Amino acid sequence: MTNARVIDVESGDIVGGQAIAMRGDTILAILPMSEAGQFRARRTVNASGRYVLPGLWDMHMHFGGGPSLIAENRALLPLFVAHGIVAVRDAAGDLSESVLAWRDSVARGFMDGPTIFTSGPKIEGRNSIWPGDIEIDTPAGVDSALDVLQSRRVDFIKLTDNTLKPDLFRYALREIQRRGLKSSAHIPQVVPVREAVELGLGSIEHLSYAIRGGAEREGAPPPTDVLAQFDSTNAMALYRAMAARGTAITPTLNISRTLAYLDTESHANDPYLRYIGPGLRATYQGRVDRAAQASAAAIKRRHEVYEFTAARLPMLQAAGVMILTGTDAGFLNSFDYPGVGLHDELQLMVKAGLSPLQAIRGATINGARFLNQSTRHGTITVGKAADLLLLDRNPLADISATRGIRGVVMRGVYYDRAALDAMLRETAARVSRMPTP
Ligand SMILES: [Zn+2]
Repeated sequence: MTNARVIDVESGDIVGGQAIAMRGDTILAILPMSEAGQFRARRTVNASGRYVLPGLWDMHMHFGGGPSLIAENRALLPLFVAHGIVAVRDAAGDLSESVLAWRDSVARGFMDGPTIFTSGPKIEGRNSIWPGDIEIDTPAGVDSALDVLQSRRVDFIKLTDNTLKPDLFRYALREIQRRGLKSSAHIPQVVPVREAVELGLGSIEHLSYAIRGGAEREGAPPPTDVLAQFDSTNAMALYRAMAARGTAITPTLNISRTLAYLDTESHANDPYLRYIGPGLRATYQGRVDRAAQASAAAIKRRHEVYEFTAARLPMLQAAGVMILTGTDAGFLNSFDYPGVGLHDELQLMVKAGLSPLQAIRGATINGARFLNQSTRHGTITVGKAADLLLLDRNPLADISATRGIRGVVMRGVYYDRAALDAMLRETAARVSRMPTP
C-alpha cells in the first residue's frame, strides 16, 4: 500500500506519505515512500489521499437462532468483511458447535470470513430462558462446565443472570480467574457490581450494569430506581475500581437505542434487511411485538433510560475503564445489523461523548488486548497481522468516515470496493433464495 496516511490508534497520530509492505498475512515494513523502492510488490494499492486504520473488531455479537438458521448465520460472515470488520467476538448463542467449527476453519484458512472469537455455550442456571447454554446448579456443575469449555478451547467464558444462582456466579468468577481464563457477564441483581469486579470479572456486557453499580450502596438492598439512585461520586469510585482491576465494558449502545426508539423509528423498510435471512428477520419480531404493547409511560421511560445511560459513558472513559466496541447484533436483536451495526455503534459512542479515537480504540487495540491478541493485532505495526481498512476520509475528525471504505486487507488479502460490493450483492442474492423456516 503506497502513499498512505497511517493512523496510530494508540497515540492518535497520523503519518502521511507511508508505504506499508505486507507478505502473506503479516505487515513486513512501514516506511516513508522514499524508501519503498526496496520492495517489489505483486500487488500495489495506491492509498494516496486516504487513511489506513487497523481492521475493526465487533466485540459483542451473537450467532444463533437454532439449527434451521445455520446457513443464515454463516451468510452473515461476508457482511462483516464488507464493512471492514476482520474479527468478531461471539458472546454465545445456540449454535456453538457450528461457531466453534467456523472459528477453526477460518483460522486454518479453509473458510473465508472474519476471525471468530467465541465463548461457546454460556453458563446459566436451570431452566433459563436461553437455549443452547450449559445449565448448572452446583459448584461441581461449574467445574465440569469449565472443563468442557476449556477442552473446546473457547476464547472466554460467558455467564448470564437469568436463573444462575448468585453464589454459583461468584464461584464461577473465582474459578475462571483461578484457571487463568477470561470472563464476560451479565451480573445477577443481588450481586453488587463492585463485588463482581473484585472477583476478577473480565468484561461487563451492556452499560446498564455499570449504571446499576453507580446506584448501589454497600450493605443496602439492590436499587429499585437506578436512575434516581445513581450517584456520580459512587459511580466514579466503582469505575476507578474497574480500571484498576482490569474489568472492561462493552456498552452495546446500538441495540439499546434501537429498542428504545422502536415507537418512533420503523425499520420495516430498512434497505439492509435484504442482507438478513428470513429466519433471522423472524427472530426480530419478538422485541418488536413487545415494544408495540408498551404504554406511553413505559415508552417515555425507555427513552429516558437510554439517554441517561449513554450520557454516563464518558465517566467510564474518564476513570480509565477499557471500553470495547460491540453491537449485540445477530439473532433476536431487532434491526441491530451485523456489519453496518458496528459503524452505528461507533457513531453512538461519539454522540455519547467519547472522541472518535476512543471509540475506534474499542474496536481495535482494546479488543485485541482484551482477547490477549495484542502481540499480533490491534495496531498497524511491523510483525502484526495485515488486517487494514482503507478509508476515504479521516475517521478521527469525523467518525462517520469509518463508513467510507475504499478497501479492506484481511489476512493479507486485499478486497477493493468492487470486491466488497460483490460480497454484498452475493449475500443479498443468497438470502433471497433462502426458504422461510
Ligand atoms: Zn449480547
